[in-house]
Amino acid sequence: MSDKAKKADAGCVDRTILDKVGDEAAFREAVRAWLADAMARRHELDADGAASFYDSQQWWMAERNKIGLGTPHWPKAYGGDDLSLKYQVIVAEEGAKARAPALNIFIVSLNHVPHTLMAWGSEEQKTRYLPGVANGVVWCQGFSEPNAGSDLASLRTRAERRGDHYVINGQKIWSSFSMYADYCILLARTDTEAPKHRGISYFLMDMKAPGVEVRPIRQPNGEAEFAELFLTDVKIPVEDLVGEENQGWAIAQSTLAAERGVLAFENGERLRYIMEDFYASAVAREAKWLREPHLHREYVRLFGEMQACRRMLRRLLRENETGSPAAASTVVHVKVINTTLWRKVSDFMLKTQGLSGRFFHEPALGLARDPIDYYITSFGGTIAGGSNEIMRNIISERVLGMPRA
Ligand SMILES: Cc1cc2nc3c(=O)[nH]c(=O)nc-3n(C[C@H](O)[C@H](O)[C@H](O)COP(=O)(O)OP(=O)(O)OC[C@H]3O[C@@H](n4cnc5c(N)ncnc54)[C@H](O)[C@@H]3O)c2cc1C
Repeated sequence: MSDKAKKADAGCVDRTILDKVGDEAAFREAVRAWLADAMARRHELDADGAASFYDSQQWWMAERNKIGLGTPHWPKAYGGDDLSLKYQVIVAEEGAKARAPALNIFIVSLNHVPHTLMAWGSEEQKTRYLPGVANGVVWCQGFSEPNAGSDLASLRTRAERRGDHYVINGQKIWSSFSMYADYCILLARTDTEAPKHRGISYFLMDMKAPGVEVRPIRQPNGEAEFAELFLTDVKIPVEDLVGEENQGWAIAQSTLAAERGVLAFENGERLRYIMEDFYASAVAREAKWLREPHLHREYVRLFGEMQACRRMLRRLLRENETGSPAAASTVVHVKVINTTLWRKVSDFMLKTQGLSGRFFHEPALGLARDPIDYYITSFGGTIAGGSNEIMRNIISERVLGMPRA
């Protein structure tokens, strides 16, 4: 972990904002004031132009942690503050409005890991691993393999029990931000004779363990946001097996469900401001496309779709909170609609801006995304976390009750 991450000590949290819980308006106002201050200071980090993407992300997590907004929604025992959904939504809404950076390298740390460990982890695993996240510990997800993506249960990475540890051999792929990760949630096969869904186990792997090799994969947008993991005789202590041996498939379903919550909601909020900024910049520049009625109409239609999607995301949050069974079908619909919308919006930006799209950067910390980058990157959203084709299969079979193809 970098020094920047260590600086944020959970022990010295300024509770000015958290103490306003109970008065929504005062809480919102305090979050807004803090964000305005933090966003004004973020350029200090990059004053010498040397801050890496990793440093920027760690800086932002440390800033949030100073005022108790690192992992505020977790139980107090594990470094959180039991912040209710209503207040999490305020933080997400105000963060998007302030154009605050997304905590991209912490997606697995903030969502998948707590969601899984709260449901399946031992008390020792929870107290050992969860509090570190607010202090900058990065987790990655090692599920997909070269021949096991949509058909994840076909994974072949092996885990063999030898005394007080397991020995792991195999290869993972598309592991997002794993080049920065301290730990990995890993699926590996512990029983080669059992039916494929039944012979998988779930592990917590130290990325610094001997035998872990990370090879970044460069994407079409020029960045390397994910990597291949080559695992050769990596030792994982038995205490880092989650749940029972061969129970990994059921546990992995909890992990994948983690993308249902505030994470998706925040993305929907961000898209709103990206679209608004894009329009405002077009007006300021008197962009030619504003005078083309069909393009103007297309923008308005996309804006309407985005607002409808935001409503759906709010409904999903409510359904999740009340434990409504409808959440399971809403989440697949939202995933397909939201990621398809990103594709359409970025396609529109590219169409109206062409190569001049390079000049309209999102003011995101350390990650200057322009319309061309948005366009290229938008394809990944329709694949990550289960492709939209697979989501449509789920809708047709489980929601509409259509026969399996
Ligand atoms: C941006 C991004 C981040 C990711 N991050 C991670 C990560 O952190 N950790 C991790 O483990 N994985 C990660 N992944 C991997 C992701 O989960 C897989 O790419 C995804 O599940 C698809 O698997 P695949 O790439 O092997 O494609 P395949 O499964 O080979 O599919 C190829 C094509 O066939 C279609 N297809 C396959 N089966 C069917 C079917 N039954 N019906 C209809 N169509 C079908 C798919 O939709 C797709 O279009 C990430 C992927 C992306 C793009």
